[in-house]
Amino acid sequence: MKNPTPKQIIVITSAILSVGMLLSLILLKITGQLTTDYIWLFVLAILLFVFSYLIFSYFIEKYIYRKIKLIYKYINELKQTDSIKPLRLQNDVVKNVELEVSKWAMSKRKEIKQLKETEKLRREFLGNVSHELKTPIFSIQGYIESLIDGGRKDKEITKKFLNKALENTNRLSLIVDDLEMISRSESGKLELVPEHFSINKLLQEVMDSMEMKATDCSVFLSFKEENPTDFVVYADRDRIAQVLINLFSNSIKYNNKYGKTLVACYDMEENVLIELSDKGIGIEEKHIPRLFERFYRVDKTRSRNKGGTGLGLAIVKHIIEAHHQTINVRSKIGVGSTFGFTLKKSNISI
Ligand code: ADP
Repeated sequence: MKNPTPKQIIVITSAILSVGMLLSLILLKITGQLTTDYIWLFVLAILLFVFSYLIFSYFIEKYIYRKIKLIYKYINELKQTDSIKPLRLQNDVVKNVELEVSKWAMSKRKEIKQLKETEKLRREFLGNVSHELKTPIFSIQGYIESLIDGGRKDKEITKKFLNKALENTNRLSLIVDDLEMISRSESGKLELVPEHFSINKLLQEVMDSMEMKATDCSVFLSFKEENPTDFVVYADRDRIAQVLINLFSNSIKYNNKYGKTLVACYDMEENVLIELSDKGIGIEEKHIPRLFERFYRVDKTRSRNKGGTGLGLAIVKHIIEAHHQTINVRSKIGVGSTFGFTLKKSNISI
């Protein structure tokens, strides 16, 4: 017997005791010191077996129960150990406890891994935030110091440096606005005000508002089809405008000169799929899973030079997920990228 259960141990101990006693009594009878009949000796041995079995069971049950109660108390963090069911030695209690403890250890290991990951992300995030803030702050400091050190005597230089300092404060406020937006949505405070609106009208408005930026970069924005089908969607119009601004802005920043960004909407029964495709630099496959992380950039220098905060896609994802919709990306390096997201179709026609 490799791993005897408590019940088996009690049976074996009681049997050894009663057989031992029976043998001693038989010895006494053989030597003539005992006159009792053999039958009574057997009855006595059986009685001793039953008696010791009951006594051992009682004390061992009590002992194991007390120990197990403590184990359950620690692993379940129970305040009231009374909620633990009384033990039955018929069941393999030790095996059950072993199983429970290994389940508990596994869940704790998972919890620790998750905590470590969150801690790593938190550290990375703090590092990223301070790094992002440091760059414009140092620039502003540099321009102000130069002005104090004599630059202000030259009107042209003063104007140039003040403009540069202003650009950097604008960048700081852009980063802080983006961070605020992310923190609001991560703490569940991103309140949506959904309404019924025409998606084509919003797309046209956003494209018009970005025309100057697009022209500066020689990028052409338009609908894919000449007469695109319009859909009425039910969503927070201002937040979706923000999503479109971020996506169009990226499609301009990461496009080639004289490149194009085309937008199209597709019917998906309950939802509408909105896709923005550019013929820009594209994204390598390995970067795609991390693209929507805060501060993740494929090419840090290019992103910063183009005024990116590295938070645009994280915000897009938060807004779309707050609408309980999905966003995806397909991309090929040197060919271009397509960002697509869904919105709930409205049953109202406007
Ligand atoms: P950023 O402010 O750097 O643009 P985003 O969160 O908007 O930050 O985008 C994250 C990264 O994804 C960018 O730095 C860029 O490398 C990549 N990216 C986003 N959109 C595109 C696109 N249309 N084409 C190529 N790369 C893109």
